[in-house]
Amino acid sequence: MQKDITRHPCFNLEARAKFARVHLPVAPKCNIQCNYCNRKYDCTNESRPGVTSSVLSPLQAVHYMKALRKKMPNISVIGIAGPGDPFANPEETLMTMKLAHKEFPDLLFCLSTNGLDLEPYIDQLAEIGVSHVTLTINSLHPETLGKIYRWVRYKRRVYRGAEGGKILLEQQLKCIPLLKKKNIIVKINTVVCPGINDGEIEELAKTVGKLGADTMNCIPMYPTENTDFERLGEPSKLEMKEIKSKICHYIRPMTHCARCRADAAGLLGHDNLEAMNMIGQFSTM
Ligand code: SF4
Ligand code: SF4
Repeated sequence: MQKDITRHPCFNLEARAKFARVHLPVAPKCNIQCNYCNRKYDCTNESRPGVTSSVLSPLQAVHYMKALRKKMPNISVIGIAGPGDPFANPEETLMTMKLAHKEFPDLLFCLSTNGLDLEPYIDQLAEIGVSHVTLTINSLHPETLGKIYRWVRYKRRVYRGAEGGKILLEQQLKCIPLLKKKNIIVKINTVVCPGINDGEIEELAKTVGKLGADTMNCIPMYPTENTDFERLGEPSKLEMKEIKSKICHYIRPMTHCARCRADAAGLLGHDNLEAMNMIGQFSTM
């Protein structure tokens, strides 16, 4: 079935007021530890802090979706954005996408990941019909990445510092052209951390743009409690504006990011709390 990708509210400004997206929180584990993330909270890949109300199994997620769609017929996108990383939980992620694809063939499918363990699953994602992938890439420099990530767990080994950053970055950059080969729309998320990576965003935009990424979403870091970056402070509105005006020479900046929760449901920026509360009725976890 040919899907209308213009109905994705995160990627199309005009669709934003009309179409809703839902995040299915089926991926609790993570394969890295970002120094701005307290995993009692949502994945900062896409989020503002706020606990995900529940974690669902793939079957529970589909039952929840069926009930939700009756209340919210304008849903156009099903996304998985945590609360950990989709590919630290590949079985749950793929099973959810497969079941959802069978039940809701007309909907778009979207994933948000740090990219570390994405590569082996790209063919399957294309077969299932995933049309949009968000990759969070924070710098092109392993030393900077070493400051942002406390650890990176890859192929059952834990790496720290620049060594971990290098492995993560290699996987992330490799995935952009592979996703584009499958005609998947690629968004890059970058968390702007003051004094850490804020001077490196322009060169990152240049590189990911050359590799074929479609759009870039620069997110101001939110200083979350009980994290290493708790006292770093948030970048100012002016700094964010300047960053966006620099990157637009290389890639289309995303202008209406809503920093969504891992269990978000509704129009961007107007999450439907009743829908988010429904999750509890479907979860036994
Ligand atoms: Fe948290 Fe997401 Fe980073 Fe994992 S990738 S540590 S869930 S922000
Ligand atoms: Fe996809 Fe991110 Fe939008 Fe969720 S918020 S639907 S993961 S682009």
